[in-house]
Amino acid sequence: MDLGLKGKAALVTASSKGIGKAIAESLAAEGCQVAICSRNKEDLISTATEIKEKYSIEPIWCVCDLHKTKDIEKTVEVVNKQFGKIDILVNNCGGPAPGYFRDLEDEDWTSAFEQVLMSVVRFTTLVVPDMIVREWGRIINITSVSVKQPIDNLMLSNSFRSGVIGLAKSLSNEVAKFNITVNNIAPGYTLTNRLYDLAVHRAKTSGVSHEEIISEMAKAVPMNRLGRPEEIAAAVSFLASQQAGYITGNTIVVDGGWVKGI
Ligand code: NAD
Repeated sequence: MDLGLKGKAALVTASSKGIGKAIAESLAAEGCQVAICSRNKEDLISTATEIKEKYSIEPIWCVCDLHKTKDIEKTVEVVNKQFGKIDILVNNCGGPAPGYFRDLEDEDWTSAFEQVLMSVVRFTTLVVPDMIVREWGRIINITSVSVKQPIDNLMLSNSFRSGVIGLAKSLSNEVAKFNITVNNIAPGYTLTNRLYDLAVHRAKTSGVSHEEIISEMAKAVPMNRLGRPEEIAAAVSFLASQQAGYITGNTIVVDGGWVKGI
């Protein structure tokens, strides 16, 4: 299916690795101009080179720490200058630190607030006015299944990602008349560095090896396997498509059936 995305300009945040990288690749495969950003210059260059080789497009890359407002402003400025517009904004972020309520300090909460919620607020604030002028836009936030079913030991994710969902639903109502959609993807257990790090963290406190923890995660999924980053990315590309223009204010769970609720 042609998703009608040729020539659209997309900015995918936190995208040198994992789910963000897979999203950048998926949009590049659809013919989008793609901009990626994260904190690490070497990783960005490596990802940009890989995308260029695979899809024959020249991605823009920007070093950007999502905790820093100035970095976010600079990134949007650079992308607007190079592409002349941002049609699609994918708000991804690094996962907040794991931990139970009893483990967390004041600064853990502040850091997760900045990274998970305020990065979405800041990028979206900078991008929406121009989308309104051009009367077309797609904003897609990457959250987690934790917005449907809180996950043990992920207090910060469980808390702030629901804020993103509330923001998206409210904003979708405000901007729908400008042909801008705002949606969320909630990934389940997906095989990336983040998942590996979480398994190692749990291994330290549980006395079980991280390999066993990863295997247990897969067993808890009705599909009996972990997700692949490309499977999350495919849902994002669909939400970005022309065909998805009547879907807004929604959260699509991509989890192999892990969430137990209806
Ligand atoms: P990952 O660790 O593999 O990749 C994270 C990306 O974010 C990397 O490119 C990293 O450089 C970048 N990043 C991290 N901190 C940053 C910062 N402060 N500023 C800019 N860039 C930063 O993670 P992933 O598994 O791809 O997860 C992406 C998001 O999806 C995370 O928020 C994660 O919590 C969420 N998620 C992941 C899973 C999973 O199973 N992998 C499940 C549900 C939700």
